[in-house]
Amino acid sequence: MQMDSKQVCENYTRISGEIAEAALASGRKPEDIAFMAVTKTVDPVLVNAAIDCGIQLLGENRVQEWQSKKDAYRSGIPVDFIGALQANKVKYLIGNVRLIHSVDRLSLAQEIEKQAAKHELIQEILLEVNIGAEETKSGTTPETLPELLKQVQEFPHVHVCGLMTIPPPRQDTYFLEKMEEVFLKTKELPNADMQILSMGMSDDYREAILHGSNLVRVGSALFGARNYT
Ligand SMILES: *Cc1c(COP(=O)(O)O)cnc(C)c1O
Repeated sequence: MQMDSKQVCENYTRISGEIAEAALASGRKPEDIAFMAVTKTVDPVLVNAAIDCGIQLLGENRVQEWQSKKDAYRSGIPVDFIGALQANKVKYLIGNVRLIHSVDRLSLAQEIEKQAAKHELIQEILLEVNIGAEETKSGTTPETLPELLKQVQEFPHVHVCGLMTIPPPRQDTYFLEKMEEVFLKTKELPNADMQILSMGMSDDYREAILHGSNLVRVGSALFGARNYT
C-alpha cells in the first residue's frame, strides 16, 4: 500500500526513537548514528516529507533514477550512493554525492580516482564487504579486504572512511557479529581510518546498531513496500 506524507513522518519518528534506544543501549549517543532514507522507487513527494520530518541523509541506488528525481528533492540534503555501480557511471557521481558506499573492487576505485582527480577533489568511499561470501553478491570478502584497502589507500583522490555490508538474510545476528569483528580488525590496519560502519536495513537496524553500525539504511520501514512496476 502506498503511504502518505503523514505516515512517513510517523514512521520517521518511531524509527528515530528506536535508533536512539539502540544507540544508548550500545553505549553511544543517538546523534552518533546516521539514519539514511533509501529512496529507490519512492515518489519525491514522500522523500520531501521525510526531509521535512527531519531526515538528514538520502541513499540512492541507481544513477538514472536519481538523476530523474534529484531536482524534485528539497535542496541541500546530502546524498550517498549505495547501489551496484558500473565504472562508466562514476562520472555522474563525483562532486554530487557525499559518500559512495558500494566500492567492491579495485577497478571501480581506480575509476573513482580518475574522476575525482579531474574534479580536483577527494572522494570519500566505503568498501563493500560480502560478509556471507555469497557468489551472487558483490563485495570483497573479509579475506581479500586488507589487500584491497591497502591498494586503494595508494590513490590520492580517494579516501576510505569505513565499510558497508548487506548481510544475507538470517534470523539470528551471526553475520552482524561477524561484520563487527571485521570492522574492529580493519581499524587496526596501518593508516586505516575506519569511521563508518554502514550496516542495517528495515529488518535489522536495531540489531545492527547493537553490533557497531553507525549508519543504517532504511527504505521500506520508512516509506512502505516498494512498487517496482
Ligand atoms: C534497498 C536497499 C536498502 C533498504 O532496504 P529496506 O529493507 O527496504 O530498508 C538498504 N541498502 C541497500 C544497499 C539497498 O539497496
